[in-house]
Amino acid sequence: MARKPKAPTAPESETTKTPANSGKPVRVPPLDPEKPAGPKMQSVGSEKAADSGKRKPDTGSASPESPESGGSEERPAASAGISSPLPTVAKTPATAPVGPATDPVSETSPPTPVETARDAVPPPTPTQAASEQVEAETEAAGAADARMESGTAAPPTAVSPDLRGAGAAEDAVPEPPHAPEWSPPVAAEMPEAEPAERAEPAERAEPPPQPHIQPRPSLFVVHITPELAPVAKVGGLADVVFGLGRELEIRGNHVEIILPKYDCMRYDHIWGLQRIFDDLWVPWYGGAIHCSVYFGFVHGRKCFFIEPHSQDNFFNRGAVYGFHDDIFRFAFFSRAAMEFLWKSGKHPDIIHCHDWQTALVPVYLYEIYQPMGMRHPRVCFTIHNFKHQGVTGAQVLHATGLNRPDYYFHYDRLRDNHNPHAINLMKGGIVYANFVTTVSPRYAMEAKDQGQGFGLEPTLHIHHMKYGGVVNGIDYDVWNPEIDPHIPVHFGVETIEGKYADKKALRDRLLLADNEKPIVSFVGRLDPQKGIELIRHALFYTLGQGGQFVLLGSSPDGAINGYFWGLKRQFNDNPDCHLEIGYNEELAHLVYAGSDIMVVPSRFEPCGLTQLIAMRYGTIPVVREVGGLADTVIDKDFSHRPLNERNGYVFRDYDERGLESALGRAIACYYQYPDHFRELMKNAMRYDYSWNHPGQDYMNIYDYIRDK
Ligand code: ADP
Repeated sequence: MARKPKAPTAPESETTKTPANSGKPVRVPPLDPEKPAGPKMQSVGSEKAADSGKRKPDTGSASPESPESGGSEERPAASAGISSPLPTVAKTPATAPVGPATDPVSETSPPTPVETARDAVPPPTPTQAASEQVEAETEAAGAADARMESGTAAPPTAVSPDLRGAGAAEDAVPEPPHAPEWSPPVAAEMPEAEPAERAEPAERAEPPPQPHIQPRPSLFVVHITPELAPVAKVGGLADVVFGLGRELEIRGNHVEIILPKYDCMRYDHIWGLQRIFDDLWVPWYGGAIHCSVYFGFVHGRKCFFIEPHSQDNFFNRGAVYGFHDDIFRFAFFSRAAMEFLWKSGKHPDIIHCHDWQTALVPVYLYEIYQPMGMRHPRVCFTIHNFKHQGVTGAQVLHATGLNRPDYYFHYDRLRDNHNPHAINLMKGGIVYANFVTTVSPRYAMEAKDQGQGFGLEPTLHIHHMKYGGVVNGIDYDVWNPEIDPHIPVHFGVETIEGKYADKKALRDRLLLADNEKPIVSFVGRLDPQKGIELIRHALFYTLGQGGQFVLLGSSPDGAINGYFWGLKRQFNDNPDCHLEIGYNEELAHLVYAGSDIMVVPSRFEPCGLTQLIAMRYGTIPVVREVGGLADTVIDKDFSHRPLNERNGYVFRDYDERGLESALGRAIACYYQYPDHFRELMKNAMRYDYSWNHPGQDYMNIYDYIRDK
């Protein structure tokens, strides 16, 4: 029998070097490692260990290391949890027309009464007014450039009539007390019905006329992003750019991705990497930094990697985030990406940027590059998490060449809503972008109206007309149990038995006992956002209810990581529990495939990918009813939806009883109604959480802002 050595000791002060952190280290809420484990856990653990005599090896997780100190973009958590029950909201809360953000101030909605006094709206600047005049002349040239890039001649863009109609009302519509709900419209306009007099008689029973689908133009879309799976992945953002980029290409668009050239990238996933541009000088602190640009394919995606040659050594530090000057690193990258577009003569139809790291892109575009002649692009800004906003001092303006502090410190531009002496990059992105999305309709509403905006609520209200939520998809080429190279046995809805072979493989790999118990798992960052207290409780509760528990995760926070290392040591000899502290993409596939139930008890969750991936693999999600979790998981027992649409278990209150109410039902169903549980697995697998629908939603948004 294999015996596992003792888990290595991880000092509490240490942290892992795993990239699983999309922001700054966050202090852990006091978790007491000395807190006695639940009585059920104690008895189960010792008993089963004695039963099987099986000992698990240390599976080679990255040993904890200290990250660099945190930067200044971390904002205090205005509201980490939701105390009151949430209403059910199925649709995007708000969107409406917006013009090109030639002047962010002038395109804001009428200020609310509270803001009227301090938010007086200045008139458009002369530069902006003049630039409007030349737009018509340069637009055609820019569009032609884009078509050349994409190799596609294009008829005029088809725009949703819904949004067009809304657009006509720009500036004239007083802000409603509550923003209207918004559903992304279909892009292809449906054909008009034939006039009645020309309709064929019914008795001829001819087949209905074929819908006349208007050919839509292909777009040239450039993603400017700090992350891209799998080469530079920290969290869901990386998956989104990877999956959405592919989907947009499948839909006939030309897509390019610009990201930093990190030394820590997975270069084994980049094909044909070559230096293609060696003379890029990016303005910085009144001078310029010399950069090279590389081109390569990441699983077919066309990617440009920017490498600065400077003593700041921005992207050669062994990790994507976690440095005191993160804000300056990414402010520089954003400027470099725009400078590259400008110098290389690229005029994309759409620039799609992501999170605070690239929030300055629309600011640069409309304040620097548009006056220089880059009139064509429109900007979509996607916020993957409101918690990290990039809040910093005025120095960043000086560094980046945004040299009018008084102008940018205006409340309607980049001034932080709470600290009048700070610049908020994410706020700048919201103000200047042509459209702002976040990653689920529910989270869009929570951020704007339920205190999850971490101080940006007033800004979202002002800009609610260009704000909405689109649920992320997952890449079905990567997350597909029928072809997944990381799992030993492939399976699908009709061949679901294969999943049990993967369950056995997971047990073999982690040296768990082979028995009839359900495997409950957690995969993700061990961040307070993910509900650390409830993850811990899920472990003890599962063992007490006769289940097995697997955790794969890590934290850059030494205290949190140390706590879970302590738990790992505590359960080292338990044949029903395994904690893998670290980041392991390949093991994650096996955990998704081999588990029966996956817990996602987040305090807040912008979208969440783990529940979507779990469902794809027939693993039943047990989630808290927040953000994207609420949008994607339908409770088996408490839902008005038909039985065949239910796909998991949901709880509302962020406490142990709440978690138990859902996890207990899931485990009970597994044991007592295996047929029901199996149907639930199939329901979950049948859902389409690919990029198909979100891809269409983003196309509609692109079409809409192109028309402005
Ligand atoms: P977030 O973006 O907040 O980190 P998401 O649920 O949106 O959370 O995305 C998490 C992604 O990262 C998923 O693809 C998940 O499988 C992956 N992931 C997170 N932690 C780990 C880990 N320790 N090992 C492997 N994959 C991980």
